Amino acid sequence: MKSLWLLTTLLLCCIHVSFAQQSMNYQIAVRDGFDNDFFVTLSLDSKLDKEATLFQFASTAPGTYQTMNIGRYVHDFEVLDKKGRPLEFDRLSVNQFEIKKPKKVQTIQYRISETWDTKVKENPIYPMAGSSLEMDHAMISPHALIGYFLDYQTQPYGIELVVPEDWTIGTALKKEGRFYKADTYDHLVDSPILAGELTLADTLIDDTHVEIYTYSKNEVVDSRSLLNAMHGMLAASKAFLKYLPAESYTFLFHFEPQPPMPTGAWEHSLSSQYVFSEGGEAQDLEGIVHVAAHEFFHIVTPLNLHSEKVEHFNFIEPDPSQHLWFYEGVTEWGSLTLLLRDGKMSLETYLNNMSQKVQIDGFLDKSWSLKDLATRSYTAKGQQQFVNIYCRGALAAGLLDIRLLKLSNGERGLREVILELLAKYGKGKPFSEEQFFNELVEMTYPEIRTFIDDHILDNKPLPLKEYFAWLGIDYRAAGDGQPPRFFVKVKANEEQLKLRKIWMRNL
Ligand SMILES: [Zn+2]
Repeated sequence: MKSLWLLTTLLLCCIHVSFAQQSMNYQIAVRDGFDNDFFVTLSLDSKLDKEATLFQFASTAPGTYQTMNIGRYVHDFEVLDKKGRPLEFDRLSVNQFEIKKPKKVQTIQYRISETWDTKVKENPIYPMAGSSLEMDHAMISPHALIGYFLDYQTQPYGIELVVPEDWTIGTALKKEGRFYKADTYDHLVDSPILAGELTLADTLIDDTHVEIYTYSKNEVVDSRSLLNAMHGMLAASKAFLKYLPAESYTFLFHFEPQPPMPTGAWEHSLSSQYVFSEGGEAQDLEGIVHVAAHEFFHIVTPLNLHSEKVEHFNFIEPDPSQHLWFYEGVTEWGSLTLLLRDGKMSLETYLNNMSQKVQIDGFLDKSWSLKDLATRSYTAKGQQQFVNIYCRGALAAGLLDIRLLKLSNGERGLREVILELLAKYGKGKPFSEEQFFNELVEMTYPEIRTFIDDHILDNKPLPLKEYFAWLGIDYRAAGDGQPPRFFVKVKANEEQLKLRKIWMRNL
């Protein structure tokens, strides 16, 4: 059932020093007889700085909001000099190694287990943010395989893949010679790789080259059928945003009969990665389009609009941003609303989706504000409540849009505010973690301050009835055995009809 998998599907986004440019070139190899382990080798072409002692594996990764401790998967860690002799190191913590004589280091090598088939006692990693290795393919989230020298987070990285010759490689990274190149460690982590027996389909949306790579174990679904299903959504995204802030974009889909749970997707700047079941989601292309619309909308936020906490990601320990409501709630709202406004989704389906979100919110702990969902996302309790960021977060974004349209007499809703923010901020230009709420109020209306205080910072019930009434849509809370529902009034007054028309206008 579509709603069931939608409910269980999770939609998954420094140190500055002035060392000489040192390209950090890694080889990732798969070897016969090792079907759970990748072999990783870092070969240095010049000397490390003597202070570069700390080699780090990621504790978490942008956009996942979960503790990962990738060091748990590392085996046979070795540090070698140029003659291949072992050098001394200490393991300071699960994720951190201290190298005693960094200037002598030529090679670092280790084996690292895939996250899918490796049992862990706690903090299992979302499959779409982990790694998988089988005879016919590999799924590589770079943070799940690649450790790095803390002092070299902002240096260029290269990845050479040693995999069977007939494998197709899908990634947003560009290849130069043997290496897939990334500008920094953050860029590398932002660029997953799917390799193996894949199908490929591509198209141009405006000036953006869109590629879809698909692994489907039993060939239940392929890239062409996914592209056919997604084409309208991609065009609607362009219409909603006026332009697509990316030259190219890569979708990586992984289907097998029974992938690890929870299935879902993870967004990146120029790509997104999906793990779905052949017997489940693959049978519901419309559902996949909705998930893909969400991930694709992430090119707006957090990938372009984010605070400095996202811009300079802390891989050593999780440091959450309070604006998760914006990164995930606004994204979920935007991905549904662009389909509604482009006529790709009926009003009935849109409102049913909203009802479902109200229902899920009702099952979860009401005492958590949207800010709590953000700042406590890395705790075990936070993980239990986390799905609500896609529900209450999206509902709050929707209400904010209606409020803005009402206050501006239909001139300027949340979409227009987002487009203004996109013109001001972007990659390398984060908004202020502390000042963002003030900025939103300043660029809109004083009433928005109360909305933020009540419904983002605090957990006051969302004014669904009041706001939807402005559109001539009657909201009825759950009761008498009925779920929460929205009814579109046929006899709405002129003012309501006018605002409703603007709210769901065709772009
Ligand atoms: Zn998301």
